[in-house]
Parts: sequence; structure tokens; C-alpha cells
Amino acid sequence: MPRPIEAVIHCAHLSHNLGVARQQAGGARVWAVVKANAYGHGIERCFDAQRQVADGFACIDLDEAQRLRDLDWRGPILLLEGVFEPRDLELCSRLHLWHAIHCEEQIDWLAAHKLQQPQRVFLKMNSGMNRLGFRPQAFRAAWQRLSQMPQVEDIVLMTHFADADGAGGVAAQQAVFEAASSDLPGERSLCNSAAVLRHAGTPLRGGISLAADWVRAGIMGYGSAPDFPENDAAHHGLRPGMSLRAKVLAVQEVPAGEAVGYGGRFVAERAMRVGTVACGYADGYPRLAPTGTPVLVDGRRTRTLGRVSMDMLAVDLTDLPGSGFGSEVTLWGQASERHGAALLSIDEVAHAAGTIGYELMCALAPRVPVRVEDAAAS
Ligand SMILES: *Cc1c(COP(=O)(O)O)cnc(C)c1O
Repeated sequence: MPRPIEAVIHCAHLSHNLGVARQQAGGARVWAVVKANAYGHGIERCFDAQRQVADGFACIDLDEAQRLRDLDWRGPILLLEGVFEPRDLELCSRLHLWHAIHCEEQIDWLAAHKLQQPQRVFLKMNSGMNRLGFRPQAFRAAWQRLSQMPQVEDIVLMTHFADADGAGGVAAQQAVFEAASSDLPGERSLCNSAAVLRHAGTPLRGGISLAADWVRAGIMGYGSAPDFPENDAAHHGLRPGMSLRAKVLAVQEVPAGEAVGYGGRFVAERAMRVGTVACGYADGYPRLAPTGTPVLVDGRRTRTLGRVSMDMLAVDLTDLPGSGFGSEVTLWGQASERHGAALLSIDEVAHAAGTIGYELMCALAPRVPVRVEDAAAS
């Protein structure tokens, strides 16, 4: 018997969520961002569901691009950080990849490269995040250089927002981008999930909106709200892409005053029933989740108690008399149908642990068995 823990990938929800991106983005085409192995969900597991809505797939690793071609995806694939060394360009040709150009070195490599056919590049501007891209003053020269190269077929203008999910918003970076690029021809791609959900309708010069020609939908496709706790996934109409479920493998009757777990960090306030759950930090559950982190037992909300250990954690069953040994525990996502498909957003759990939904889904551990749900329906 394997340990009673599993991750469930909800394919129907993945399609639904990308549909939300498509709707918000107006007429823009949608990249399904599948970096980090589809945010921990597994590229191969998500592919059939995502391909039904997405116009293309965006990733970081050439290996991920190769896997998409192995799945027989013939449409666009974008390398969001471009190539890492000159010989990657050969694979770009062979696999027909579009790739970001964010620095002079990448232009030099392309200029020195003998290609069978010209490539499509996404020229990236650093409009204020200071992570990747050409500064606004250098952007035009980079564009001109690329546009004269026989290796280049088409240049899409791209930038990335640092605070589309927060109070800073996108206005300042948008203004920088437009001032430095509005008279350049070509398509544009600016929006990540947060920008799609919060700012997609903002007008951009030339009668188009911020969604422009291509949006890059990452986290929203997996059902997490990038702007939690200001908004939650349900507010945005997003459904969980992944549920992490385990079972109660032991029940302890703990008298008032006794402690639970490593370090005795939780002391029972009264006589309590404590469930020991087959999920710990070696499964990807955050060790820093404190007492009180929400959890569902048989679809009903309760809380974790004390420290998370490697393979187990404790939950409060005191007020759930019908639950006990063998009960289903939903660490995040959705309880099973027989427990009403009750929801516990990954963002709420992440927030309690001082992190974000992105990190939890990406950190799902390889030892957790994964089951794909609704594959046929999607
Ligand atoms: C990861 C990434 C995205 C997707 O971001 P989300 O916040 O997950 O939507 C978009 N653009 C670039 C360049 C990225 O690296």
C-alpha cells in the first residue's frame, strides 16, 4: 500500500481557467505558461486540457519545449528567457521555437548563427522591474539591429510587470514601455496573470488594450489568485488546478495541557482529539505553516496543530466528531465529491505559511502520487 496521500490534477479546471484568461484578454492570443513543469502540475498531465484553449505554450527550459514537441504540439512555443548559450539556437531552429531576446549577448549569438530559416523573437524591454531586458534607451537600437538580421523573421515587443498584482499597478511601466516603443511596428505582449485579471482593459496607445496581441497566463491557469488576499480565486472565477489530499492515519485523545508534535509548540487548551495526517514537508507541504493553518477534514474546515514534520502533520478533530481514522484531509484544493467538493484555496494555505500559491504548487514533491481527473471530459 502506498502512503495515503495523492495530488489530483483537475483537467477540466485547467481548461476553464485558461478560458477566463481568454475572456479577460479580449482578442489577444493566450500563452499557457508551463514553466517549472506546469507550475508543478506536470506538462504531460496538463497538455490535453491546456491545448484546447491556449494558442501557444511558454516555458523556460529547452527540455520543456522538447517535451511539448514530443506531445505532438505543432503550434507556437516561446522560451520566456530566450537561449542560455549559442548552441541552444540550433534547437530553436529544429523545434521551431520562438525565443525572448533580453540582452546584447543573445543578439550577438544570433548574429553569429547560421540558421536554416529565420526565427521569431520576443524583444524584451526592462521597463522598470530590473530583472531582464534592454533599458528603454537601448531598446530601439536592439530592435534596429535585430530587424536587419537575416536570422530574424519577426520581432514581438515584450515587457514584464513587477507589481501588476499590487498597489503599484502597471501605469508607470506601461508609460515607459510606450514612450520607448510606440512607433515601432510589430505585435506586443505585456500581461502576466495579474495584469490580465486586473488591468487587461487599460487602453494602450494605438487603440488597443494592455492585453495587446499576446497575454502570458501562468498562475491563473492553475487556479491561484495572484493578488490574494485582496482577491481570491473564486472572485476571479478560477478553479483549483491541483488538490493535495491525504488521510488521517492515527487519532490521539490529548488531555488539556499536553503538547503536540516536535518542540511541543502546541499545547492542548482543553481535552482534544488530534488527527495525525499522512502529509509533511517532504511532500511539499510548507513546514512554516503555523498552528491554525486551514485544512479540510471530510470537507469540513478545521486547523493544523503544532509543527509540521517530514511525513506527518496534526489536525484538530475536536469539533468534528464524525471524522477520525481514515478520514479524507484536503491540504489545499478541493475535497472529493462525496465531501461536497468543498474548497480550500491554495492561496489561503500559502498565506498562512508566509508564502504564495506559486511556491506551494511548484514544490509538490516527486514522492507524492499524482492522479489526473476529468482527462476524458476535458
Ligand atoms: C512566469 C512568467 C509569466 C507568468 O506569470 P504569472 O504571474 O504566473 O501569470 C509571464 N511572463 C513571464 C516573462 C514569466 O516569466
